[in-house]
Amino acid sequence: MKRILISNDDGIHAPGIHALEEALEGLAELTVMAPLTEQSATSHALTLHHPLRVRELGARRFAVEGTPTDCVLLALREFFGGTPDLVVSGINHGPNMGEDVIYSGTVAAATEGAILGIPSVAFSLATRGDADYNPCRSVVRDIVQSLLATTLPHRFLLNVNIPAVPEDQIRGRRVTRLGSRMYEDDVIRKEDPRGRPYYWIGGSLAEWSTDVESDFHAIAENHVALTPILMDLTDAPRMQVLRDLGMER
Ligand code: MN
Repeated sequence: MKRILISNDDGIHAPGIHALEEALEGLAELTVMAPLTEQSATSHALTLHHPLRVRELGARRFAVEGTPTDCVLLALREFFGGTPDLVVSGINHGPNMGEDVIYSGTVAAATEGAILGIPSVAFSLATRGDADYNPCRSVVRDIVQSLLATTLPHRFLLNVNIPAVPEDQIRGRRVTRLGSRMYEDDVIRKEDPRGRPYYWIGGSLAEWSTDVESDFHAIAENHVALTPILMDLTDAPRMQVLRDLGMER
C-alpha cells in the first residue's frame, strides 16, 4: 500500500483538508499532520524560538501548534515512521498562482516535502469567495493516482490550481508556468475609532499576466493548472551579466 503525508496551511479543521482526505481515501495510507490554526501566507516559516506542541487527534492524525513547514518536517523526522510516497498539501481555500506561491503556506508544505526528498504536490481551489470542494475531489484523486503510479524525479514539486466552477464546467487540464499578478491598493490605510491610523495588507486583484501558458490564463478558461516548480531560484542568464560587470574577481 502506498503512503501519503497530508498537510495544509488553512489548519487541520479546514474543510479543504477534509475534502483532500476524502478524495484520497483508499488510494493510500493517509497520515495527516497539519497546523492547529490557520497559517495562510506564512510562507516557509520555521519555528525556531519556542517549543512545538503536537496534539494527537486520532489515528495517524496530528495537529501542530506551528507552521506548515514545521508540520512536514516534524512528520517526516519524527511521526510518520518510514518514508511517504508522496506529500500532498491542501486543498487551499483560494488560488496560489504566480508570485503568490512565494507567500503560500500551502506550497511551502509541499516544498518542504520536496526538499526532504519526497515528491510533493500542492492543491488550491481558485476561489475568491466561498469554497465548494466537491468538484475538486475527482481532479485531486486522478492527479494523485497518476503521480503514485510513476517514478517521479528527485525534488519533484507540483503546484495545482483548480477552477472554482461546477465539475461539468471544468474543461480540462493544462501544464502551465507561473504567471504574474498585480494587486490594486496593496496596502489600505484607515483610521481606528480613536483617530490613529492602521494598515491592512491585501487589495483586490487588478490584473494578471496574459501569457497563454500561465496558470492565471488556464484558470480564467476553467482549466486545471499544473505548474512544476523549481526550488533553484538562480537567475542563470544574469550570472553572466554580473561577470560582465566585473563583479567576479
Ligand atoms: Mn491558506
